[in-house]
Amino acid sequence: MDPIRIAVVGMGKIARDQHLPAIAGNRAFSLAATVSPRDSGIEGVPHLRSLDALLEEGPAIDAVALCTPPQVRYDLAAQALARGIHVFLEKPPGATLAEVHALSAQAERTGASLFASWHSRFAAGVAPARAWLAERRIDSVKVIWREDVRVWHPGQAWIWEPGGLGVFDPGINALSIITHILPRPFFLSEATLEIPENRAAPIAADLHFRDTRGAPIHMDLDWRQTGPQSWDVLVETDAGTLKLAHGGAVLTLPSETVRNEDHEYPGLYARFATLVTGGRSDVDVSPLTLVADAFLRGTRLTTEAFFD
Ligand code: NAP
Repeated sequence: MDPIRIAVVGMGKIARDQHLPAIAGNRAFSLAATVSPRDSGIEGVPHLRSLDALLEEGPAIDAVALCTPPQVRYDLAAQALARGIHVFLEKPPGATLAEVHALSAQAERTGASLFASWHSRFAAGVAPARAWLAERRIDSVKVIWREDVRVWHPGQAWIWEPGGLGVFDPGINALSIITHILPRPFFLSEATLEIPENRAAPIAADLHFRDTRGAPIHMDLDWRQTGPQSWDVLVETDAGTLKLAHGGAVLTLPSETVRNEDHEYPGLYARFATLVTGGRSDVDVSPLTLVADAFLRGTRLTTEAFFD
């Protein structure tokens, strides 16, 4: 079968760090073009300044990976789907829930595949954690997601703007994990969002959820963490503690440890290839729904100004 000719749109940090190597490492894909308004692309691959230009001038493509900030993703995705081009959405899949639902319906109409990707779900420990928890009683869950925004998102103005999600940009990764591994649905009980006085999005959030049997889930998100960083999930069960660390790459169960740091983007592209060849889509908005609920129901506190 011919490889899927894919264009990477939005040549920023994640495109260069993860998408390009994952595409190069998967024979189901060939990198047909890159698109970015200011970036100059990579040697030997056609580069265009906009998706409009690519669709008008070529080269021909079968799929796009949209690695832009979420605020501009809907228009790009709708434009691609309208031409029957398959779409891989970086997380979060959109700036609003309604636009993702609209894309999902459009994909169904056009027959193109739409993949709302959640990279953390492809971390090595996540699938075995889900399998282990399926048979356990969940007593409580604690999520600690504390990182230094100056290290991980230097100068990214979009992340602090409406639709950029602030600390929920990494926090939604934790939500993508726990919505996948916990056996029952859960929902927000209360939340506090700390928003710097000069920004539109939170720098920290404290969230309390409970599942449909009442098990408490506490989430501590903070972007002001210097020194050691934490991307951990702890689940207390009737059979002992499950710990997912390093964003899901390291799983510790009472009986064993599973570890693999480079699992996520190769797994995402393998999944996208399966969706395209099978003529299917995969659009789960549950992590974005919980973030939207935090903005809907959370108490906002103004905190000191943040400067990069
Ligand atoms: P970034 O470094 O700011 O890159 C975003 C890129 O999008 C910019 O380089 C910009 O290109 C391009 N862009 C903006 N508007 C565009 C448009 N209309 N058409 C084409 N390109 C456009 O951001 P990032 O960190 O890579 O994050 C991008 C997305 O990936 C976010 O949704 C984020 O949540 C997700 N993500 C990020 C990470 C991470 O570790 N950084 C990890 C996983 C997922 P120019 O530079 O050419 O202007």
